[in-house]
Amino acid sequence: MVATDRQGHIHDYCARKIIVSTGYYDLPNEMGVPGEDLPKVFHYYREPHPYFDNDVIVVGGKNSAAEAALDLWRHGARVTMVYRGSQIHPNVKYWVRPDVENRIKSGEISAYFNSRVLDIGPDFVVLDTPRGSQRLRNDFVFALTGYHPDYDFLTSVGIELSAEQHRPVLRSRNAREQYSGIYVAGVIVAGSRTSEIFIENGRFHGKQIAAHLREP
Ligand SMILES: Cc1cc2nc3c(=O)[nH]c(=O)nc-3n(C[C@H](O)[C@H](O)[C@H](O)COP(=O)(O)OP(=O)(O)OC[C@H]3O[C@@H](n4cnc5c(N)ncnc54)[C@H](O)[C@@H]3O)c2cc1C
Repeated sequence: MVATDRQGHIHDYCARKIIVSTGYYDLPNEMGVPGEDLPKVFHYYREPHPYFDNDVIVVGGKNSAAEAALDLWRHGARVTMVYRGSQIHPNVKYWVRPDVENRIKSGEISAYFNSRVLDIGPDFVVLDTPRGSQRLRNDFVFALTGYHPDYDFLTSVGIELSAEQHRPVLRSRNAREQYSGIYVAGVIVAGSRTSEIFIENGRFHGKQIAAHLREP
């Protein structure tokens, strides 16, 4: 196996078994709309301060979107949420959900539900909403629409994926071993259903793999 580190140095490894646990955070789910490649559009949220006194759209209605919308609003951005669902997702953390719902109810954060982004321009965004098409003034867009594993990478190392949900096909459920001595661990076990595995349940995969490796 050949690996490249952050400094670009190449490392060669020889191993009889490989554990792949590459997660899903490197590849955002894109909206596929015109203007998504503008520099004002982000798929990762880091900090609120540069967006003070700006018109910011947060796309999505799950944890990332809810937390980013609240943080941006608390630091002085004018925030509009756009979500294809009919309400903030029920799985949003129980202490975050009422907070964002109350900000929406009071009008402090605007929200368009059952809506999606159609077009993004330098200073505007066009939405498809139940009340028809809406053009909003806009400075920045945070498209927090989820992420997905690198399926091409997984198949390139010999991992077979199921047709529908891209879940690794396992030889033994308990051991998480693939046919060719490759183990999978963490959220990639859930394929495209990334919310099924999180820190609390994914951390047990290592124990299962270690136990299997110890077997004669
Ligand atoms: C915004 C956000 C908030 C979250 N909040 C919570 C929370 O509060 N509680 C919770 O339980 N879960 C939360 N999760 C989910 C949780 O982060 C994941 O379920 C968990 O991190 C998955 O662990 P993992 O080991 O499978 O992948 P990761 O933790 O993503 O680790 C994968 C690692 O592999 C590296 N990698 C990827 N490709 C390669 C490659 N080709 N070569 C070498 N290295 C590679 C990545 O850089 C990364 O370091 C959140 C997720 C997101 C995106």
